[in-house]
Amino acid sequence: MTPATKAAIAPRVHGIDARGGWQAAWRDAIRDPRELLSVLGLDGEVAVSDAAAAQFPLRVPRAFAARMRSGDPHDPLLRQVLPLDDELRPMPGFSQDAVGDAQARAGHGVIHKYEGRALLVATGSCAVHCRYCFRRHFPYAEETAAAGGWGEALALLRADASLHEVILSGGDPLSLATPKLAELTAALAGIPHLRRLRLHTRLPIVLPERVDNQLLDWLAALPWPVAIVVHANHGNEFDAAVDATLARLRATGASLLNQAVLLRGVNDTLEAQAALHERSFAAGVLPYYLHQLDRVAGAAHFEVPDDQALALHAALRARLPGYLLPRLVREVAGDASKRPL
Ligand SMILES: *Cc1c(COP(=O)(O)O)cnc(C)c1O
Ligand code: SF4
Repeated sequence: MTPATKAAIAPRVHGIDARGGWQAAWRDAIRDPRELLSVLGLDGEVAVSDAAAAQFPLRVPRAFAARMRSGDPHDPLLRQVLPLDDELRPMPGFSQDAVGDAQARAGHGVIHKYEGRALLVATGSCAVHCRYCFRRHFPYAEETAAAGGWGEALALLRADASLHEVILSGGDPLSLATPKLAELTAALAGIPHLRRLRLHTRLPIVLPERVDNQLLDWLAALPWPVAIVVHANHGNEFDAAVDATLARLRATGASLLNQAVLLRGVNDTLEAQAALHERSFAAGVLPYYLHQLDRVAGAAHFEVPDDQALALHAALRARLPGYLLPRLVREVAGDASKRPL
């Protein structure tokens, strides 16, 4: 199939093709915690932390907020984004650079920890701010590959013939405009040892408007097999717009996988986990990783102890077919891969 026909058969969803459409949705994100609570009918019912918001501001696209349950202060999507005083309590063992990114950085925007694949920090921007994120303290503004005009990052990738896969990450790489992405992949296409391209992105879930025809055309025309690893933590993060978006991504020929983070109060029950992976499969996405939380300062209240995580994973194995069981892993600085629990 030629790239052009692959793009042509991608279903087109009414209303999200308008030029500049996704940038408008991006800019329209909710940034005031009290506005979010008000939209959900929770004014004054949850203690928002202004100090936590000052460290890492709230940011939620309206399409994502619309999937939160009105009137429920424990909504699993709301818990992922709402700044709380819990974040301010220092906890031993929780630090600013929990996964050793500072030490592993190979140059401007390139993190090379594992054999054969390197992660390109394409941008520091995200459409949504996840409170548990291990990147909340990382100085991405100065450390993105784009900031260096890609030159240094590309030179590093070109010089290392053992690298067969580039992972576009961030931040969220799809927060870059499509022509920027195309400029990058055109340069990558000149590196003969690359065999695969991977995207780590939460945008198809939190801002499905981002997946417009221009993006689909770019993806369909890439010269490598493509894996897109999305990030949903709860079944409620899927709705009809997300399903349609994922179908269009799949129609470009890309393989779709999901990585989730195990989060207390969000998805730490057997029911929530089973529903997440069944729902993601219904949308054409296979479970990939279930990450044990990175021990990043401010996220301790989300942690699920290892023994509980293992028991939950064992119960999940008994409940789901093998292909819907994510690998339960933790990232340990210095390891040669994610470490199975
Ligand atoms: C997680 C990660 C990868 C990807 O690991 P896979 O097991 O291939 O999914 C690659 N590089 C870095 C730096 C990572 O943190
Ligand atoms: S989208 Fe990903 S990188 Fe961005 S804040 Fe959320 S978890 Fe972190």
